[in-house]
Amino acid sequence: MSDKTRPDISANWSAATLAAQALGHIDEKSRAVTPPIHISSTFIRDPDNQYRSGNIYGRPDNETVREAESVIAALEGAKHALVLGSGMSAAVAVFLALKPGDHVIAPKVMYWALRNWLMNDAAEWGLRTDFVDTADLDAVRTAVRPGETKLVWLETPANPLWTITDIAGVAEIAHEAGARVAVDSTGATPILTRPLEFGADIVMHSATKYLNGHSDVLAGALATNADDEFWARIRRVRAIQGLILGPFEAFLLIRGMRTLALRVTAASANAMALATRLANHAMVSEVLYPGLESHPGHALAARQMRGGFGGMLSIRLRAGEAHAIATAAKVALWKRATSLGGVESLIEHRASIEGPGTPCPLDLLRLSTGIEAVDDLYADIDQAMRRAAG
Ligand code: PLP
Repeated sequence: MSDKTRPDISANWSAATLAAQALGHIDEKSRAVTPPIHISSTFIRDPDNQYRSGNIYGRPDNETVREAESVIAALEGAKHALVLGSGMSAAVAVFLALKPGDHVIAPKVMYWALRNWLMNDAAEWGLRTDFVDTADLDAVRTAVRPGETKLVWLETPANPLWTITDIAGVAEIAHEAGARVAVDSTGATPILTRPLEFGADIVMHSATKYLNGHSDVLAGALATNADDEFWARIRRVRAIQGLILGPFEAFLLIRGMRTLALRVTAASANAMALATRLANHAMVSEVLYPGLESHPGHALAARQMRGGFGGMLSIRLRAGEAHAIATAAKVALWKRATSLGGVESLIEHRASIEGPGTPCPLDLLRLSTGIEAVDDLYADIDQAMRRAAG
């Protein structure tokens, strides 16, 4: 970091402040407020054979990636962060840092591609995973095997039912049994929840979603306060398998994160307004959103999330699957697409993509609320439901 000036970020600046200035780094040589993109894959060795700059080769590390990591670490209140080429590579790096034969617990409701990987590829590699309703602490207590369970994986709010898990409650159970806790906090973002403060050991993000926020980068992130061998193993998995994010994408991620607080606050307000209005819509049988008092995780979410309940909600259509699919076909403003966390609102018939093993009802549409005017969003989904009903 010899060419950078860093402000003292020990002052109690809010996440909005830290993110807006990407920690306020100034490039020493040019005095630029936007740091340069470091693209070199290799670096000059000192005449005495040392690498004093800390840079050796582009696969283990990169200066622009380190910039993105320092922002994410600050936002999560973490000592260390790692940025990887996708959310999946971040999650998989954590599991590959375990050992074949290790026992892990994962939620029944979680990001489907990771669940499939755990059920199939990870099982073949030797991980033994039990899928548990992690919203039920008694179920977690029963499933944990002291000395044998090495990791409890959580996702909260969890795709696509937006189930809320008590991070502190699970951490207490897991730590007593000698297991670590990792939280996929993609849906919450560090603006709403900082899992390490609730006792989690590792926090993970698909930075493709809210952290970047513009649907133009695939990236993943991990953060921790631990200085242990397990974190070193994760770092090695990234370095050896070349899972690091490219420098151009790292730059875009830094740029996206500057507006994280604004975007998450706006998307959460839109989601809350939509959830409230859609809950009273004659064609909607249920709205799944932790901000609604009717949601089973509402009280916990109100304690664990601050400043909003996130931009993600799902609705179930009274008339069933065909009406749900037809509604997604009739939208004009909402974009019919997978993914989430961008500035544009997305709608998806989720069961079509999740396949076997999904807890997702067939009549469910997943809504990723963007930052558009909420009246326009409501009017569009209302007209789509009506036209789809014929
Ligand atoms: N975790 C969650 C909650 C997700 O929604 C996703 C992607 O949809 C992932 C992880 C995987 O992230 P990526 O697509 O960046 O690999």
